[in-house]
Amino acid sequence: MPRAGTVEQPLRVAVVGAGPTGFYAADALLRREGVAVEVDLYDRLPTPYGLVRLGVAPDHQKIKSVTAAFDKVAADPRFRFFGGVEFGKDLTLGDLRAHYHQILFSTGAQTDRRMGIPGEDLAGSHPATEFVAWYNGHPDYDDSEFDLSVERAAVVGVGNVAVDVARILSRSRAELARTDIADHALEALARSRIREVYLLGRRGPAQAAFTNPEIKELGELEGADIEVRPEEIALDPLSRAAVEKSQDRATLKKIEILQGYALRRPAGKARTLVVRFLVSPVELVGDATGRVVKMRLVRNELDATPTGALQPRATDRFEELPVGLVFRSVGYRGVPLPGVPFNESWGVILNDRGRVLDPDTKEPVVGEYAAGWIKRGPTGVIGTNKPDAAETVQCMFEDLEQGRVIQPSQPAAAAAEALVRQRKPTFFSYADWLRLNEIEVARGRAQRRPRVKFTRVEDMLAALGRCASVPAAHRRG
Ligand code: NAP
Repeated sequence: MPRAGTVEQPLRVAVVGAGPTGFYAADALLRREGVAVEVDLYDRLPTPYGLVRLGVAPDHQKIKSVTAAFDKVAADPRFRFFGGVEFGKDLTLGDLRAHYHQILFSTGAQTDRRMGIPGEDLAGSHPATEFVAWYNGHPDYDDSEFDLSVERAAVVGVGNVAVDVARILSRSRAELARTDIADHALEALARSRIREVYLLGRRGPAQAAFTNPEIKELGELEGADIEVRPEEIALDPLSRAAVEKSQDRATLKKIEILQGYALRRPAGKARTLVVRFLVSPVELVGDATGRVVKMRLVRNELDATPTGALQPRATDRFEELPVGLVFRSVGYRGVPLPGVPFNESWGVILNDRGRVLDPDTKEPVVGEYAAGWIKRGPTGVIGTNKPDAAETVQCMFEDLEQGRVIQPSQPAAAAAEALVRQRKPTFFSYADWLRLNEIEVARGRAQRRPRVKFTRVEDMLAALGRCASVPAAHRRG
């Protein structure tokens, strides 16, 4: 039998998850000189790019330009995209092992972490990930509803996702109308009666997870004043010592930006965005109908752990914040994939530098790999996934050299495609995506917007002339 990776038998790789990591991995695989490689990229979503399309905020178009590089990868004749094909449902691990020499999982972190407090599941309390998916036009969330008729909303957490959510809630209609926000979200947010948006950090300003361009942008919104309490950004002795010791320029700048906000007087804009520190929600309280009406907060102080990290410690000082809408934005979490070893406490695939490990022997599982957030957890910017994917791909080629690859029973590219056509006849190819992209951009041009997104799979199929659009009344739900 000829060796995989030779001209007679190309190395056939399935990549599961078409976010940036999947493309970075495909690129690194296809660029490798001296080895014949073919990559099939699968995603449960009909469209590629994962969170770049469905997570990056609609008012951050520049970040999305990273997809130009992905288009170049997709133009390689050795690359195929199978969108709308779900691993574990349409295709099993056994199916992939029968058709590929290597399988790489880059499924990201598809769910949210919980706060673990009473009232978390009251009506009006949502994971930020759901709101983000909704305003970005994720097909699974096009019928989500958020009560924007309330006056106050709180976002728990001070990472960049929390900042995105707070910013979208604070933007004026005119600002949102220039973006590629989903039409249903534009309409709903245009009618929003929210006047105050709270961002709640459990530690102090020196520990805030948001980055400086993001917090700076919050001070430049057309329709919202920013408010920070001077007493909450005054550094406690432990934080001061840590900042003075590290002299970390980004942290110093972050504190300077926040101190500037504390000195500002409100300009009388329609909304106020309040950034709070050293507070943790301990309970969400509902009314008789089960809707959240207020949040109980405890004030925190910081303690040093043995490693030197500063952690919040609750005091006995409480306060109440009347809020009708709560978004928890306390981090993403990876979802286990059927048949793939998973580390439950970390929320990642059990792996060593990207090689999936057998949970019993802790030895690599031949032919299975992970990259991106499902490998290391939900941290870093988009570009962080490039070296991460490259590390995994390096392991894949090392294993190939040692002959440690799956010996699939049906390695021909045509056999994999035939299986997809049988299991998911409505799958989307990259050519389909390019056509949809053209239509979205053309629809946007008419409204002076970057694009007007399709948010329903039926509409995407109809636009491609592949089946009639289902009338709204007959849709799921
Ligand atoms: P993140 O950066 O890890 O932030 C999570 C936030 O939740 C932190 O403020 C954390 O506080 C807080 N938190 C965790 N558990 C909590 C609890 N029980 N109660 C209260 N607060 C709690 O996560 P993320 O915002 O989801 O972002 C994920 C990654 O995507 C990050 O690397 C982020 O930078 C990136 N991202 C980047 C952009 C951009 O570049 N514009 C946009 C979106 C996302 P502690 O620090 O105290 O734990």
